[in-house]
Amino acid sequence: MLLSRFPRVSLAHLPTPMEYMPRLSEHLGGPEIYVKRDDCTGLGTGGNKTRKLEFLIADAQKKKANVVITQGAVQSNHARQTAAAAAKVGMQCELIFEKRVTDASDAYLKSGNVFLDQLFGANIREVEKGSDMNEEMDEVANELIRKGLTPYIIPGGGSNPIGALGYVDCALEIIAQANQENIVIDTIVHATGSAGTQAGLVVGAKAMNSNIPILGIGVNVEKKLQEDKVYQLACETSEYMGLPGIINREDVVANCDYVGEGYGISTQSMNEAILMLARYEGLLFDPVYSGKGLAGMIDLIKKDYFEGQKNIVFIHTGGSAGLFAYHDILKTQ
Ligand SMILES: *Cc1c(COP(=O)(O)O)cnc(C)c1O
Repeated sequence: MLLSRFPRVSLAHLPTPMEYMPRLSEHLGGPEIYVKRDDCTGLGTGGNKTRKLEFLIADAQKKKANVVITQGAVQSNHARQTAAAAAKVGMQCELIFEKRVTDASDAYLKSGNVFLDQLFGANIREVEKGSDMNEEMDEVANELIRKGLTPYIIPGGGSNPIGALGYVDCALEIIAQANQENIVIDTIVHATGSAGTQAGLVVGAKAMNSNIPILGIGVNVEKKLQEDKVYQLACETSEYMGLPGIINREDVVANCDYVGEGYGISTQSMNEAILMLARYEGLLFDPVYSGKGLAGMIDLIKKDYFEGQKNIVFIHTGGSAGLFAYHDILKTQ
């Protein structure tokens, strides 16, 4: 496997640090917990989408695109990192937001990620909840073609085999760091949504024969749907890399018990997890993804899911730029 065969632009600060969390580990009394700081990828306040965008933007450039189109929720971290990446390489950026959250606060609609999108110069369009977002992107693409532009569509979350290469690379990075620091990693845990992060990690861990289980904590749909989505993308990604057939269905494990009432809707355990990490480690997590991922990891430690395991790694996928959009739903006490 040679990732350098695939076109790539440099957007992220890599490798991101992998840090031990002594106070959290002691407080929870389970395995030693490390955090892989993908919130520190650097671009436009960082996050996991930047790794994917290194490959997606390179593909867009190869296809001579001068405008990228993507979609998400109003507070999409993916949209914000795409807007920053487009600015950095001199492309126009069109964002389509689905008004997924009803009764949204002023802060949600104007602050956090969406404010940064505007700073990065992206054009923003909004569509109603339940719209077919792929169709919406196609329509915008056709409109731009009529104007003489060359658009490139990036799927929601940057999750296709090209974007997932970013997390194949992250798996290699984690394994290299573990070898260097002499840490035996028993499980990697992270929040899973549009599936590209987990799919890439599963492929990378498998291709390296590392035997490290990857546990995705769902933030959206139920377990079977989430696992099927990740499995399908992992298979497509391994095929795209010239390694067909290396992924088994049981390599893909998601726990979707921590979603609560739905995507973006806060839960008490998420709120407690965010406070715990802020107060034990001085780290910032977001309510939609990384906070729910953490809530899952913390509860599973309490339930002895990791019994007999010495070291686990939580991948901090970012999202803290959105925090200010949620100050009214997050309790600080
Ligand atoms: C997008 C995102 C995720 C989920 O990653 P996917 O590749 O979409 O599964 C997790 N955490 C944060 C902060 C994100 O923005």
